[in-house]
Amino acid sequence: MRNHSELLKKYNVPGPRYTSYPTVPYWERNPSAEEWISSIDQALTEGEARGIGAALYIHIPFCESLCTYCGCNTRITRNHSVGRPYVKTVLQEWKLYLERLGRDRTQGVPVTEIHLGGGTPTFLTPDELRELMESVLEKCRILPGAEFSMEADPRVTRREHLEVLASLGFRRLSLGIQDFDPRVQDVVHRIQSEDQVREVTEMARELGYTSINYDLIYGLPFQTLDSIRETIDAVRRLRPDRIAFYAYAHVPWIKPSQRRFTEADLPAGDEKRALYELGRTMLEDSGYREVGMDHFSLESDSLWKAAKEGSLHRNFMGYTARQVAPLIGLGVSAIGDSWTIFSQNEKLLETYQARVEKGELPLLRGHVLNQEDLVIRQHVLNLMCRMGTAWSDQPAYTEYLESVAPRLEE
Ligand code: SF4
Repeated sequence: MRNHSELLKKYNVPGPRYTSYPTVPYWERNPSAEEWISSIDQALTEGEARGIGAALYIHIPFCESLCTYCGCNTRITRNHSVGRPYVKTVLQEWKLYLERLGRDRTQGVPVTEIHLGGGTPTFLTPDELRELMESVLEKCRILPGAEFSMEADPRVTRREHLEVLASLGFRRLSLGIQDFDPRVQDVVHRIQSEDQVREVTEMARELGYTSINYDLIYGLPFQTLDSIRETIDAVRRLRPDRIAFYAYAHVPWIKPSQRRFTEADLPAGDEKRALYELGRTMLEDSGYREVGMDHFSLESDSLWKAAKEGSLHRNFMGYTARQVAPLIGLGVSAIGDSWTIFSQNEKLLETYQARVEKGELPLLRGHVLNQEDLVIRQHVLNLMCRMGTAWSDQPAYTEYLESVAPRLEE
């Protein structure tokens, strides 16, 4: 057997985050709109029998400025007049789902989770957020224990945003932080002080938000052990309930904004790994527990309880405390998942809007999972959520597994 550091070198290669299996570049068998709707319908019916509703993900693509590390689907603009037409399109898309699912005139869709992501959801005005969410909620049947969460940028989030969403039932807030070091913030084009973050965090807590998450990134240009130490120290002072500590993914051929720095500016290999190890040790010393991969939470948070009880799940929105199906994605580039089918919306805003206006579901691409995909998908999820898997866990077997074990021996 090789030693720890040799194994780290062997596996230190670019790889996907496995937010889906198969991952998007390997999607092959596109579903028709009818297949997609029918698989959602089936997942809703099966979920209802177990008292579980759907997860709704709503993507708001707008941001006022571009962070150079960003890998999300965004539209950069300071023109806020784009907000209201976009809200109308998303509501029109929701109506298309309700009609096709035959739930427009019934009691609506049972819902267990709602997540507002982006982009920057708080790019919308508080009134636009209210209009969007009130209209969506009109046709949702919210099941007991449902959780509503949102992403927010501390630089543009005002008390009124948080108040409106709190009044509609939002209790989870995720703030994009990344790093507190001024030199790193300058090169990634995201300048925000600890005081700014503290203000939004405290405001949210006052307004009744019960779980605050911070997103951090290691491996950004100019990060050092000292800068990570200072960032984690600031985070420990603010004490969020959850922390996502992601590895930076350098893909300038896909995201040209990452050309603002070069590979020479990036910590790599052992140096990058050391940043993670330092962050992890500091967080664990302050009472955080590692949950799944690259996530931490306080023991009081539902994510840690889920990890202990074995109900942790991971989807396109990150880790969640339970498996929810189906995931219906609304908005440009949003991804949905019925468990047997993945489906992504048009990625270009204008095309997305034009198709919805024509009364079409704006599906761009997707994948119908075959039996082998479903088996491997479950193993990948087990690894990411339980840190282990066993062929015998599976109700079904696929021949491909035979070739995996020998390759894992060392
Ligand atoms: S605010 Fe978030 S989504 Fe917008 S550019 Fe920055 S990282 Fe990307």
